[in-house]
Amino acid sequence: MDRFTPAAPPREEEVSRLREELRLSREYDALTGLYNKNTFFEQAVRLLEDRPEESFDIACVDVERFKLVNDLYGIEAGDRLLQGIARRLKEVFSPPECILARMFNDLFALLLPQGKREEAEQAILRVFQALSHEMVLTPAIGFCPVLDRAHGAQGVSAMYDRAILALKSVKGNYLKHAAAYDVSQFSLLLEEQELLNGVSSALENREFEIYMQPKCNMRTGKVIGAEVLVRWRHPEKGLIPPNVFIPVFERNGFIKRLDVYVWEEAARWLRRWIDAGHHPFPVSVNISRIDIFGLDVCGILDGILEKYGLDVKLLELEITESAYVNQPEVVIHTLERLTAHRFTLLMDDFGSGYSSLNMLSSINVDILKIDMQFLVRSDQKSKNILESILRMSKWLDLPVIAEGVEAQWQVDFLTGLGCIYAQGFYYYRPMPLADFEALLLDDGRVDDLDNGMQRVSREMLLDFHELFHRDVMSDRLLENVLGAIALFRFDGSRLLLFKGTEEYYRLTDRLGLLSGGQGVEQDLLAPLREEDRARLLEALRRAKAAPDESGAEVSFCRRDLSPARWFHIRLFHLADRPDGEIFYGALSDVTEQMDNLERLRVRENQFYLAMEATNIVLFELDLKTREARYSEYAQRAFNLEAAVANAPEGFIEQGTVCEESQADFRAIYDAVYGGAERASCIIHAKLGDGSLVWNRITLAAVRDGQGEAASAVGMVETVSRAPEATPEIRLELKNQRAQIVRAGPQDSPAVLV
Ligand code: C2E
Ligand code: CA
Ligand code: CA
Repeated sequence: MDRFTPAAPPREEEVSRLREELRLSREYDALTGLYNKNTFFEQAVRLLEDRPEESFDIACVDVERFKLVNDLYGIEAGDRLLQGIARRLKEVFSPPECILARMFNDLFALLLPQGKREEAEQAILRVFQALSHEMVLTPAIGFCPVLDRAHGAQGVSAMYDRAILALKSVKGNYLKHAAAYDVSQFSLLLEEQELLNGVSSALENREFEIYMQPKCNMRTGKVIGAEVLVRWRHPEKGLIPPNVFIPVFERNGFIKRLDVYVWEEAARWLRRWIDAGHHPFPVSVNISRIDIFGLDVCGILDGILEKYGLDVKLLELEITESAYVNQPEVVIHTLERLTAHRFTLLMDDFGSGYSSLNMLSSINVDILKIDMQFLVRSDQKSKNILESILRMSKWLDLPVIAEGVEAQWQVDFLTGLGCIYAQGFYYYRPMPLADFEALLLDDGRVDDLDNGMQRVSREMLLDFHELFHRDVMSDRLLENVLGAIALFRFDGSRLLLFKGTEEYYRLTDRLGLLSGGQGVEQDLLAPLREEDRARLLEALRRAKAAPDESGAEVSFCRRDLSPARWFHIRLFHLADRPDGEIFYGALSDVTEQMDNLERLRVRENQFYLAMEATNIVLFELDLKTREARYSEYAQRAFNLEAAVANAPEGFIEQGTVCEESQADFRAIYDAVYGGAERASCIIHAKLGDGSLVWNRITLAAVRDGQGEAASAVGMVETVSRAPEATPEIRLELKNQRAQIVRAGPQDSPAVLV
């Protein structure tokens, strides 16, 4: 066929094959075969529409120091790494529950069911570990719940932006790899304002609805009670879950009005239910710590019970463990009054905080609620913690409700440990009142309530306070409840071990912390070197000064051990006594994390050393301020100032660029300032001692997670020290000039490589 013969029209299969190829290239990322950014948003919207009842998170995953991989091992190795990550992530996060995409560069995005953050983080860490060979790879991960379902891809992309914000908050942090977006952390004032604007009228318009989540007996599967959970049916934003607005309302105090409203709604429902001739059914409402400090909780609840003529047994009260952290006396006083008025108190989220020990020593509760999400870390450890809590609770005749039970294995696990009650998606999700009533009317689903939750009369309960101080609660019983915890006495110079959990001894013994042997007073400070000692002392001071008993934390190294071990300790100040101050500390071994950090530092040094060998000087260029900052190595090796302002003019003013090269030099800066990816040229440069060399200058833009370039890396490489340009250099100079002339002075992409 010669080229004048008109081509035959393409056949149908050909056309559809081409179409298919086109579609693939539009929807998928060519390098990894994952969805691309647009497809991610499309598919996410579709999944959210398909599953309106379920909650989802968006996660963004970025490879820490990916640039270094490219620099050290080359672009191809970088590409292979991205493919490896993509392949492994795909094995873990697959449809139909998850959507996975590569957004660009080294940034991946995921849509996954909510409540799996820790699991997802661990899985991602494992993927990165599996790919860490010469270089330790770590991810930075940001999560954001999908809250806005009303605005399609636009809404999803807004949530994605927030996940990126969360990701940025951990980037470069080698001890913490993941963070969740939360309104308080980033104080998105605008958004809060928007939420708050509509709030008063929302209450009047009855936009707040109560949902019910049944609590079940795991042995029979029957319903024994329910928790009242609030939802906001926003006219524009749709159904908003409480974790979005409750923190905001807690900060501005509106929670008090909302909670009173919810309590009353719950009472109204109970009245209606009883009036309709049904068996009374106990429900629990949530009480925020803000309520305790700002309301006469007991008086208000008494009033509500009276108004609706309800027995106090029907309205149970859930108070989160963390409520006890601030000003415990106020809380204790309120709880005592509620107890005196015969309210049933549930301690919500038991095990979530560090102060369980303090709390249990000073208060009484009727029921513990343990959130399974606090126990997902490692199997054996979770098992130990649960076992201890359940053993303790049985001993005290204190019923336990396991919350957040999602899977059969959890049910087996819990019932195996003698836990009877559960609340979680495995049984029922929170549901609107109408659905809940239908459930209650469904024969056989509800326990004969008189046999429901076996409750113990208060007189039968041992006083935790007594218990703790009388030492009835042995170390063995406390073992694992709180991990490696110890009490210390600080006498101004020594931090003496007073008493520790078994886990503490296990950890420290294994690591030789008790080198002094038994019976000798152990001083945690004694073996430390000066800098570590100073850090620990400083943390003790901070823990004491911490206004809200939030404690203080610090990492320190036992360099006297071989190999050296790193510890992290969280310290709380408990009491001042004549013989010293009492602290309690939670200890963990973080040697591995610190080793990773160290290994990275070594890598970096090797990188700099490699550059030294080839006479390369590195600097970072801020594209906005136009400031060039030299690397530490360059400052040291070449005796350079830390920064040069107003590049390139700053350099030219210093007299380091010979006249003949100044145009080229300016051109590459203009190119990168103008958006070029990379620009390079050879210049004749004058050194501090007056000697002349030929240098190749390369500027390369560095993109952040959003694909925006805020900085560039500059590289200065000496290619020749000959006084005259070599023929190769002359050729290159000629080419780069020709390009500059062609590009013209305005549209600069001058010498792009
Ligand atoms: P919470 O009191 O710990 O309530 C339990 C939360 O766990 C509920 O979230 C429930 O939907 C969720 N959940 C239950 N089972 C499972 C499960 O199997 N898996 C997972 N992943 N989650 C499960 P919700 O309704 O979004 O409420 C979140 C938090 O908002 C509540 O945590 C509570 O602290 C607060 N809250 C809800 N309603 C009120 C209220 O009326 N007043 C106050 N002050 N706080 C409220
Ligand atoms: Ca609760
Ligand atoms: Ca809870």
